[in-house]
Amino acid sequence: MGTIRQETRIFIGKVRRLFAVHFRKGYVARQLDNRRGDCHQCGTCCHFTIGCPMLTRDHLCRVYGKCRPKACRVFPIDQRDINDVAQCGGVCGYDFAGQANTGRPGASPGAAPGPHPRKPS
Ligand code: SF4
Repeated sequence: MGTIRQETRIFIGKVRRLFAVHFRKGYVARQLDNRRGDCHQCGTCCHFTIGCPMLTRDHLCRVYGKCRPKACRVFPIDQRDINDVAQCGGVCGYDFAGQANTGRPGASPGAAPGPHPRKPS
């Protein structure tokens, strides 16, 4: 649990992504074109502010590959999202071409709060 300021910033990021996937589709598409790396399934982004209600007790996603929200499917959209992961103690497997990753120095994927929520098919 972070400070109120940190939690507020993380929450604002959720709202920003929700807005972007519905109203800034061109921006999202361009950002995804510049995104590099891949998801190492740390699950940090699934625990922003509150744990996602779609997670099972084993921290697996009930809707992965079915009807996962678009904001989840495209995460991270930009460097701010990666910074939010770092603020929560994780290191996202993605980065954006030409943008410095400001992840927490020394942080490791193991520092994230649980396994990736992907539910085996
Ligand atoms: S924070 Fe990044 S690496 Fe971790 S689960 Fe989310 S998208 Fe994957």
